[in-house]
Amino acid sequence: MPTYPAEPFRIKVVEPIRQTTREERERLLAEAGYNVFKLAAETIYIDLLTDSGTGAMSDGQWAGIMQGDESYAGAKNFYNLQAAITDIFGFKHWVPTHQGRAAENILCNTLVKAGDMVPNNAHFDTTGANIRAAGGHPIDLVIDEAAIPSSTYPFKGNMDIAKLESFIQSTDRERIPFGMITLTNNTGGGQPASLANIREVSRVYRHYGIPFFIDACRYAENAYFIKLRETGQGDRPVIDIAREVFSLADGCTMSAKKDALVNIGGFLCMNDGTLFEAVKQELILREGFPTYGGLAGRDLEAIARGLYEGLDADYLAYRLAQTAYLGEGLLAAGVPIVQPPGGHAIYVDAGAYLPHIPREEYPGQALTIALYQAGGIRAVELGSVAFAYTDQETGEIQYPPLELVRLAIPRRVYTRSHMDFVISTFSEITRQKDALKGIRIVKEPKLLRHFTADFEIIA
Ligand SMILES: *Cc1c(COP(=O)(O)O)cnc(C)c1O
Repeated sequence: MPTYPAEPFRIKVVEPIRQTTREERERLLAEAGYNVFKLAAETIYIDLLTDSGTGAMSDGQWAGIMQGDESYAGAKNFYNLQAAITDIFGFKHWVPTHQGRAAENILCNTLVKAGDMVPNNAHFDTTGANIRAAGGHPIDLVIDEAAIPSSTYPFKGNMDIAKLESFIQSTDRERIPFGMITLTNNTGGGQPASLANIREVSRVYRHYGIPFFIDACRYAENAYFIKLRETGQGDRPVIDIAREVFSLADGCTMSAKKDALVNIGGFLCMNDGTLFEAVKQELILREGFPTYGGLAGRDLEAIARGLYEGLDADYLAYRLAQTAYLGEGLLAAGVPIVQPPGGHAIYVDAGAYLPHIPREEYPGQALTIALYQAGGIRAVELGSVAFAYTDQETGEIQYPPLELVRLAIPRRVYTRSHMDFVISTFSEITRQKDALKGIRIVKEPKLLRHFTADFEIIA
């Protein structure tokens, strides 16, 4: 077992959670069409659906909430957040947004034209969707190791530099409005990119005159992975690493619901003054005046304080160790996971865990259902339910490479005993896993079916 540092906080407010009986859970699941998105959160014991906006704020952040200046324009909290962003991110211009996808939406509406292409290590689903909505194509160029669950390569979020160069050389420069890298790579299991790789990515984009935007959601976790794993980086303060990373780019999109430790918020940064003028126009249309961008003054204050708390080395050591602890515990219990454990989540390889369930019968959904039945635990399927689609030309179903179930860990919310409970629930499932049945979809919408589809267990 890896070391698990004692939580670097003590608990001042508690939120009761209640375990239901297995009987209750069987009934609730049937009522929800065996879709855990449709369960009332109060009926869940441990909720690992997402780490987005689900974290606990500190007493300092709550004190900041009471100092919210709710003036329409020029609230003092805007200036506080501006000072934090200038200090850590260092970009010349920025605007607040209500969450990360709003920053992506404004960036894409301003820069992406029909037929454009945007390279990335791997686009998050909202980023890809915003590029497509503007008529563009998201291009994923992550290294090959990212697709091998058992590979313990320390920087599986790295961009493949050779693929990036050949993509740019074979594409009309006019078709690439900007390039990205996502830190950490959420889609690929919360895996980090190395500082050496980010420097190379920056060098290539700059060589070809392509503006470089970082999807910065988990930049602090990425910076701590660099400190832990990259030669020569171990003695640097985390904030220093973060500052260097952003100095290599021309801007960033940020969901503050991740490493800024708040429940809502985001921002968009850039150096280009002309772009900033266009962004402000879009912002006023969609989010609000440039000093609040769809957020209350108190939200801006909580982000300003959360940005520094998210970079604290003791917090990050605990955060990454907690995730690793869950991952190692599952491996020891015979559960295959995407290795090595990422920053914010453990991805279980449900296809390998339940080899008797074919992918047409959704092994990931079967495991998601079993987790709730056995322990009141909510996870999310990221396999064929979420990603399989019918090819319009051939009429064939295209399956994703892996049948994954994600266990995302909310920040500063659950303790080691909660992680132990998740591991022991898995052990219980493992003992009877050969009896788990496949799943059938009863009713599905056209788009993003995993959120609202109804399922049944195949008898
Ligand atoms: C969450 C997330 C986003 C979108 O942010 P929201 O605040 O949910 O809109 C974008 N990119 C990555 C990598 C994310 O994890």
